[in-house]
Amino acid sequence: MSKLSNPAVVAALLTEHGIRLKQKWGQNFLVDENILRKIVQTAEVGPHDHVLEIGPGIGTLTQKLAERAGRVTAFEVDSRLLPVLAKTLGPYPQVEILLQDALAADYNGFCASCGPVKLVANLPYNIATPLIYRWLKQHRSCFSLLVCMVQKEVAERLVALPGSKAYGTLSVVCRYASQVEIAFTVPHTVFFPRPEVASAVVKMVPYGQTVLAAGEEPLFYQTVEAVFAKRRKTALNALHAAFGLDKEKLLALAGRASLDLSRRGETFTVEEFVLLARLLAPYLHGNR
Ligand code: SAM
Repeated sequence: MSKLSNPAVVAALLTEHGIRLKQKWGQNFLVDENILRKIVQTAEVGPHDHVLEIGPGIGTLTQKLAERAGRVTAFEVDSRLLPVLAKTLGPYPQVEILLQDALAADYNGFCASCGPVKLVANLPYNIATPLIYRWLKQHRSCFSLLVCMVQKEVAERLVALPGSKAYGTLSVVCRYASQVEIAFTVPHTVFFPRPEVASAVVKMVPYGQTVLAAGEEPLFYQTVEAVFAKRRKTALNALHAAFGLDKEKLLALAGRASLDLSRRGETFTVEEFVLLARLLAPYLHGNR
């Protein structure tokens, strides 16, 4: 079979199946052997791994994953691609393609039957942020590793540090839940069709054990989201607006831990958000 990383082969395959690519599904396919190799290497895919891929497209990355992994499951939302995938992945019995919207998938149910998986994907750009946010917040134990291609700007938000412009809810949740790094950046020239922006591959290793107990986490997320919902205001005003707690009370609570609530939330570290959530917990029981 001809190489799927060849743009002419991709174009011919799509024409053969009468498929016009849709921007709403972020259908920019990888056409660069070097980048494909680097993604698989970053994920250290081996014969004992079960890989979950989101959006196999025409199967370009899927083939590379299947050459190394014991098992590959892929969720694809576009039913028009199924006949193409049947053809390109025919020689790989270890691959299972499911017609599944990644935003609606039951990850906990999926992993309950097979154990933790490695998530490796060239994510559709428009849903990369909500997907990663949800995976880290609600389904962390389903993944031993996540290696995702995202827009460079999203990658920068994932690794951002306090005080920087890119720092926000996504950065705090990502650093709370995982060890995160940008593995490498990717120019727009390696896609067919070419998107307007550059991309980056991010590697996230979810922590097996987090600082907070599961029962404490909802208030932690609620606190982070409340503070960044009003990122131009002081943390005091943002928390007052979100939880309706008296400002005097909030200042007294924060004072106990020497936390200065006149700072903007975007200057708070993950550890400070954890502290804040713990301080608020006794006063907000039942307000989640
Ligand atoms: N993996 C292929 C590659 O690297 O060449 C294709 C990646 S392309 C950026 C994104 C893929 O995700 C497309 O195949 C698209 O149809 C699929 N997709 C978009 N939204 C999806 C969703 N909600 N659930 C599952 N797949 C989705």
